[in-house]
Formats: sequence, C-alpha cells, structure tokens
Amino acid sequence: MQLAVWTYEGPPHVGAMRVATAMEGLHYVLHAPQGDTYADLLFTMIERRHRRPPVTYTTFQARDLGGDTAELLKAAALDAVARFRPQALLVGASCTAELIQDDPGGLARTLGLPVPVVPIELPSYQRKENWGAAETLYRLVRAFAQPRSTPRGDRPTCNILGPTALGFRHRDDLVEIRGLLARLGVDVNVVAPLGATPADLARLGEADFNVVLYPETAGVAAEWLARTFDQKATTVVPIGVGATRDFIAEVAGLASIDARPILAAETSRLPWYSRSVDSNYLTGKRVFVFGDATHAIAAARVAAKELAFEVVGLGTYSREQARDVRAAARDLGLEALISDDYLAVEAAIAAAQPELVLGTQMERHIAKKLGIPCAVISAPVHVQDFPARHSPQMGFEGANVLFDTWVHPLMMGLEEHLLRMFRDDFEFHDEAGASHLGAAPAPVPVPVAVEAVRWAQDAESELRKIPFFVRGKARRNTEAFAAERGLATITLETLYDAKAHFAR
Ligand code: SF4
Repeated sequence: MQLAVWTYEGPPHVGAMRVATAMEGLHYVLHAPQGDTYADLLFTMIERRHRRPPVTYTTFQARDLGGDTAELLKAAALDAVARFRPQALLVGASCTAELIQDDPGGLARTLGLPVPVVPIELPSYQRKENWGAAETLYRLVRAFAQPRSTPRGDRPTCNILGPTALGFRHRDDLVEIRGLLARLGVDVNVVAPLGATPADLARLGEADFNVVLYPETAGVAAEWLARTFDQKATTVVPIGVGATRDFIAEVAGLASIDARPILAAETSRLPWYSRSVDSNYLTGKRVFVFGDATHAIAAARVAAKELAFEVVGLGTYSREQARDVRAAARDLGLEALISDDYLAVEAAIAAAQPELVLGTQMERHIAKKLGIPCAVISAPVHVQDFPARHSPQMGFEGANVLFDTWVHPLMMGLEEHLLRMFRDDFEFHDEAGASHLGAAPAPVPVPVAVEAVRWAQDAESELRKIPFFVRGKARRNTEAFAAERGLATITLETLYDAKAHFAR
C-alpha cells in the first residue's frame, strides 16, 4: 500500500485507451466496474476530442459479482462488434476486473467474432499508463504487421511510431516531423497509432525504417519490428535545435540521403534569440527538470546547451527509462531523481532552490507553492496544454515554442535589474515577483543547511539586501563556507569572504 494524493500516470488500461482512441477502426472492450467510464473525460474534456473514445465498458456492479461477470464481458463484446463494426477488437481488464480473473481475451475468442480479437494483459498493480500504451501498441503491431510485399521504391520510406491520444503535443509534433521528413525527401508509410487502422498496421513492414518519436510508447514495438523485419529505428528525439539537427543527420543516414541542404536552411529562431543580448541575464539561471524520461532528457539538453541555464536537478517518474535519465544526469554532474512520489520531487526542488522549474502539471503546483517560476514540458498535463494554436515541442518550430514558453515565466531582464536597484520601492520592493505573473509569490522557503551556524544580525540584514531569487543560493553557499571553516557565527565579514570565495 502506498499513500498517493497525486499520481503521474494512470493505470495501464488508460494507456491502452490512449492507443485505441488514437486509432481508427479499432474498438476496445474493457472489463471494468461501474464508474471507470471516468476515463472518457480525459479524452473528451482534457484533450477536447469531439467524440467518445471507442471503448465499451462492462461496468459491472457489486450485485453482478454474485452472478456471472464473464457473461457481461461476452455480451459487451458481441454488442460492440454489432454496433461499431470495427476492423479488430481489443479486449482487456481494468484493475478491479483483473482481481476477478475472468480472462476477457480468452472469453472473447470463444465467441467466434467476425473480426480479429487482440487480448491485452496489463498488470495494473505493477505497471502504469505509458507501459500500458507501449504494451498495447506492441501487441497490435505483432498481431497485424506483415513483412514487405512490394519491392523497395526509389524514394526512402519510414513509419512514424509513438503519437497517441492524450499525448503532450503529439498532434503538433507530428505536423513538424512530417514537414521535416518531406523536406528530406522521405515518404511516410504509416503513422501509428495516431490515425492508423489495423489495416494500416498490416503495412508497417513496407517501410525502410522507423522514426520513434516517443520511446515510452513506441520503443517496444520498434524493437520488435527491428528484430522481425530488420527495420532500423531512430534513437534521437528531435526536441531542441541540437537534437533536431542530430535527428535529421540520423534519418539521412538511415535513408542514405544528403542532409546538408536542410541542415543549412535551419529555420529555428531559438539559437539567435538565446544569443541576442537580451538573453544574457538567462545565463546560469538555476533550473530543475522533471517529467517523463524523453521530455526530461531533451529539456535538460536544451536548458544546458542552448539556453546556458545551469541544470541543478533532473529526474523522471518513468522507471522503465530510468537508466537513460541517470546517464543524462551524470553528464551534467548530477544524480538523477527517479521517483513517482510528488512529495519527494517537492523536497528535491525545495533543496535545489532553482530559479525555474520545468516539469509536469504536478511541478506547476509545487512551483506555485514555493513561489518559483515554472513551465510545463511533459505529461501529465491539464487542459491548457492541449492548446488550440499550433504548439509543437519537436523540430525547429518546436524549439521556438520552447524558447518562448520557458523564458516567459522568468522575470524579464530589465525587471530583474529594477528589483535589485529599487528594492525599497513600493512597486519593485524586495519581495515583489514578476509583474506579468500577477500577485507576488510567497518567498521561497530556505532550508537551513547547517543548524549549528548562526547568523549575526548585521550579516542577516546584508543577506536580505540580496534579491530574493538568488538569496537562497547565497545563504546556502555562505553556510557551507562557514561550516567548512568551523565558524559558529556568520558575520558580515564571513558573508563577504564567502562571496569572494564563490566568485573565484
Ligand atoms: S478499476 Fe482501477 S481505474 Fe477503475 S476505479 Fe478501480 S482502481 Fe480506479
């Protein structure tokens, strides 16, 4: 048992729903108790889809448990096929149905349905949503994909794997990547699961290679395609200018084409914006990054290499990809935080004292509580992160979006300067936050690093003259400096000595 108020991911059958809802011509019969239809709202409300997910729930109730719940499953499967006439049926259980062990897939198969039945077994008590999506896509690909039946054409072709329903910016990422591939002269064979039918999955083998946009959802299917049809897959996720350029080079290698023209015609504004003089104040901003593994790794690279931030924390809730995040963190001299406990994430953020948090909807709440600016980089997200406007994360346009989204919550350079100059002014006083963020945030709580060290009155007053957004760091550094030298009290002199020491 684990006490959880927030969870980063839903149960694995929500992952299966994301795949089924993304596809066309597929219906999902879900053995689930009454009330599990709440998951429909994720798609109709948060993603604002204009129709219900293609899911039939058995919605058994307490009184059904005394009878034959297996019959409910059979009736639901027959009804779904008659009513929706899908090309194929996906059949599985939610967490509660897993406990009553009706074997939904086996039952559906005994019905002699006129369409293929794909059973999915999702261990709801060990695994979560992204794993459920990956497993479902893998099972579907295994069930339908056929080897190449036509000879290789003149132009290279690829499949795009990974975009799902309820995916963070998947819709717009796909537009960007399609554009990039078109400019490279690579034809797209099948996009899956978003928009694909089971018949489209049968054609997966016709492509020369696979573009894996989201390893969390498509990694397992891509590995199977590599083993079975000898299709290579991309490994670079094109988020950020550097990663997009690496992705283009990787695709060009797989397609045996020349990437130089498209690399020479790079169209992102991020490199120039981040080099322009107004971005000087961004240099060294302390940023904490948390999200799914793919977006967290990508964000850390963009933050450190393209915006000159200092990454002071990196972590993920994706345990399946923990190794990759650990490696990325090591490269930045950090130890990765692998956790799906938001309280552990909150404690890590409070301890790292960042000036910006890049995270999920949960970190937005945490950052708000701590009074730290924040931008969202990864699911789980709320309705505002399914925007009406084009808003990709991937490709060159995605990099433009990243620049705007991440810099916006920070205080503008001039405002930062004014806050420092006029710290006693009624408007720009010491505790005032950025004006575009509305009310002043609560001051960031500063953990006392070393209890034994005491602050003398004059040193404490001097510390308060330092702008609030760097005060935590100054306090920590000075306390560490004093502790190392065995000083019991921090005087004005200690404060200045520490400042000189760390400025070296
Ligand atoms: S079956 Fe799972 S998802 Fe449905 S209500 Fe129970 S715990 Fe929640």
